[in-house]
Formats: sequence, C-alpha cells, structure tokens
Amino acid sequence: MTAHNALYIDGEWRPAQGRETIDVVNPADETVIAAVPAGSAADVDAAVRAARAAFPAWAATPPARRAELLGALRDQLRSRTGEIAATVTAELGSPLTVSERVHAGVPVAVAGSYAELAATHAFEEKLGNSTVLLEPVGVVGAITPWNYPLHQVVAKVAPALAAGCTVVLKPAEDTPLVAQLFAECTAAAGLPAGVFNLVTGLGPVAGQALAEHPDVDLVSFTGSTAVGSRIGAIAGAAVKRVALELGGKSANVILPGADLAKAVNVGVANVFANSGQTCSAWTRMLVHADVYEEAVELATRAAAKYVPGDPTAEGTRLGPVVNAVQRDRVNGYIERGVQEGARPVAGGPGAPEGLEKGYYVRPTVFADVTPGMTIAQEEIFGPVLSILRYADQDEAVEIANGTVYGLAGAVWAANDESAVAFARRLHTGQVDINGGRFNPLAPFGGYKRSGVGRELGPHGLAEYLQTKSLQF
Ligand code: NAD
Repeated sequence: MTAHNALYIDGEWRPAQGRETIDVVNPADETVIAAVPAGSAADVDAAVRAARAAFPAWAATPPARRAELLGALRDQLRSRTGEIAATVTAELGSPLTVSERVHAGVPVAVAGSYAELAATHAFEEKLGNSTVLLEPVGVVGAITPWNYPLHQVVAKVAPALAAGCTVVLKPAEDTPLVAQLFAECTAAAGLPAGVFNLVTGLGPVAGQALAEHPDVDLVSFTGSTAVGSRIGAIAGAAVKRVALELGGKSANVILPGADLAKAVNVGVANVFANSGQTCSAWTRMLVHADVYEEAVELATRAAAKYVPGDPTAEGTRLGPVVNAVQRDRVNGYIERGVQEGARPVAGGPGAPEGLEKGYYVRPTVFADVTPGMTIAQEEIFGPVLSILRYADQDEAVEIANGTVYGLAGAVWAANDESAVAFARRLHTGQVDINGGRFNPLAPFGGYKRSGVGRELGPHGLAEYLQTKSLQF
C-alpha cells in the first residue's frame, strides 16, 4: 500500500513536525503495510489555522458553487472505487465485495446527497417579521473511528462543507490510508486550500489536541462512549458545539405473526456484517417464547454460512476483526457469555480452525440470554448475537429499552402498522420496519448514551449551521 508520509494541510502534503509514525497493519495476516505520521498538537494547530484562514471565503462561497465542488468530490470518490475498496480491505479486513458495495459505495451516495442538499437547502427562512439566517458554525474538528472508515469521514465532512464550514479531520489510527485517499479526492475535486485538512495521529495526542483547540467551533466525534463522554465534557467546558455518535446494543424485535425465517436471516446477516463491527448492529434478537426454539434453530443454520476467511478471496463473507485488542475483547465477551450461563449454539471462544494468523474470531450465536447478562448489556463490537426470550409485548419493550444505549433497532410484525405501533415505544434513534432499506437521507444518531446529534440528510446538515434572526 502506498501512503503519504505527510499530513494534508492548507492544500498540500506537509511533513509532520515530529518523527513519530503509526504502523498500519493488515488484520488478515498481521503484516505491516504502511506507516503514517503521528501528528502532534503543533500539527493540529497548523491545520486549525489553515482551516480558520480558509473559513471566511468558503462561508461566503455561494451554496450552488459549494454544491458543484461536492459533486466533483462525489465523482472523484466514485472514480476511485476499486482503490478505495482495496485500501479498506487491507487496513480493516472487510471482504472485498463488502468494501466495494458498502465502504466505497455508501460514501458516494452520501457525498452526492450533500451535493444536492447544498444546492437546494433553504439557508434563510421567514418567521413573522424576522428573517432567520442559517450560517456555518465555523471550523469543525472531526474525529472518526475505523469501522466504516470512509463513510464516517464523509458523513461529517460532506455536510460540514455543504454548510460552509471548514474541517480538520483526525481519522482512526487503524485506518488512516483511506483517509489519505479521501484527502487526495478533495484536492482533485478542486476544493480550495485549507477547506479540508487531515492530521493522522493518536487519539489521546492529536485527537485530544483537536477537541481542546480553542479555535475549533464544533467537535464531531464518532467512536466509543468512553471517549465521547470525555470529548463532550471538554466541549461543554469550552461552550462549543459537539456532536457525538457513540455505541449501541440495538434490539431486533420479532413479534408474533412476523415472517420468522426472514427476520432471523436478515438479523443474523445484520450482526455478522463487517465482522460485527457496526455500532448500529442488532446484537440482541428478541423472540416470543412460542417460536423461540425455532428461531434459535434458524439462527444456528444461518450462522453456519459465515465461515471466516481471507477477505480478498472470492466468496468470503466474514473477514477478521480490526486488531488484536479487538479480537481479545470479543473473545473475552464470548467467554463471559459462557460463564454467565448463555448457551452457545454457534461459534465460541478462540480462533477459528486453520486461522491462527490474523485477527479472526468465530461468529457466535448465544441462546438462553437473559437481559441482565453482560453480553445482553455491553457493546461487544464483534460477530456475536444474543437471542433473548419474551412472553408478551410489554416485556419485549422493557427488554429492548433496558440498556444504556439507543442507536438503532428493527421490528418485524405481521404488518407495518403493528410494527410501527411497537416502534413508537422504543427509545432509539432509528428503527427498520419489516426489513426497511438503508436510507442515506434518514437522520442517524442516538437516544440515551448512544450520542448527541444526528448525521446524514438535512438533519445532518443542520448540525453544522447556527441561526441568526434579523427583525424587520
Ligand atoms: P475510540 O473511541 O477509541 O476511537 C474513536 C476515535 O477517537 C479515533 O480516531 C481515536 O483515535 C480517537 N480518540 C481516542 N481517544 C481520544 C481522546 N482521548 N481524545 C480525542 N480523540 C480520541 O473508538 P474505536 O475503538 O475507534 O471505535 C469503536 C467504538 O466506536 C465502538 O464502541 C462503536 O460503537 C463506536 N462507534 C459508534 C458509531 C456511531 O455512529 N454511533 C460508529 C462507529 C463506531
């Protein structure tokens, strides 16, 4: 893999001020594939200055022109699909087909949606004798994780640019290469210097410096709830805007009368996608007692189709997890599930047979999970599904809402009407009704400790705008 031994600041690749670097490791075979600079607080400061200097002109650029440039960015991303997919597979370990369709494909759709929204959004509204102006917040500090490494970048940068903000991005340590590709795309799209800046580096160093920087007006963070709450505290103390997209423990509720086989199969696929490293994954499947054993049987059979293997090989559906820490964490949860009395009906702890090299885990399904168990409460971030039993709808609501999280979920019922009636009782930011499709315009974000704010579509754009009222 080729990598820039430089940071992207003010429209050029510049050496970092220090010499430290971060190794990028291929999780499928544990080889070091590249190294990138570990930016320091001084590098972050240089990037924030560049973003600040570029802000007035970018904020004053007509939305139609910003829309054109976002369209060019979308075209750049689309034209480099193959390279983006290969890069994400190499640094994250997701199967190549998933990298193409999801990791490279979704960002094209999201960038495209903001090209359109920049052109059509009403940045001004009338309210009685007032005109309300929606103005860009300013310089945005974006901090992203590794699990959907390009999507999470685009879901912050595209709306920020559409709003007229400028950006400094600190991507995850494990996946900096696709962030460098993204920076190349911003340059090729013709974005003015300083509008987008990239500082690779360690979270507690570069990430923290960005969150704490006094000239950053808004911090948009996606990652763990632990780090997110620290960032929220820093931003709160400085009275700056903050958006947090955090963890989840979402419920897939299968109501009596639903198509059980479909609900279970889609549910298993949802949890095992991206090796279970999806914050919105439906990691708890809730099934009525009458059909519980049938659902467990179906889930066991569905899980058998997910054989971990080389993500570059044709037909692989499940690659490794991202790194050794994550592998050990996931295995720790699987062991905990067994200790607490859950019944593993697929998988279990330890490396899959024949895959001792690489950060592989066994796709695991637990039956007889009860709501108080650790595996029913904590986010595992690996291919681990817990199946819980409920007696009636009130109990299903109680279990579904009974965690600190509230990011996503699903409801399956005999018809949409009963599924929607149930969905209204869920404390969560998104619910897919009877297998509803992903919508890149739908607001995405959490209730409770899953976060603050929303990404995607017009709601995502609103995060980057502040309001000024003029009275006549
Ligand atoms: P993480 O919180 O450790 O890291 C996320 C980002 O924050 C990285 O760029 C990291 O370098 C940076 N960071 C770490 N410490 C920091 C600090 N002290 N100050 C500033 N920045 C810091 O999380 P992770 O391990 O990369 O990602 C996995 C977690 O993220 C999971 O819990 C998952 O649920 C969550 N996640 C949530 C969403 C969402 O949209 N809600 C999306 C993806 C991941």
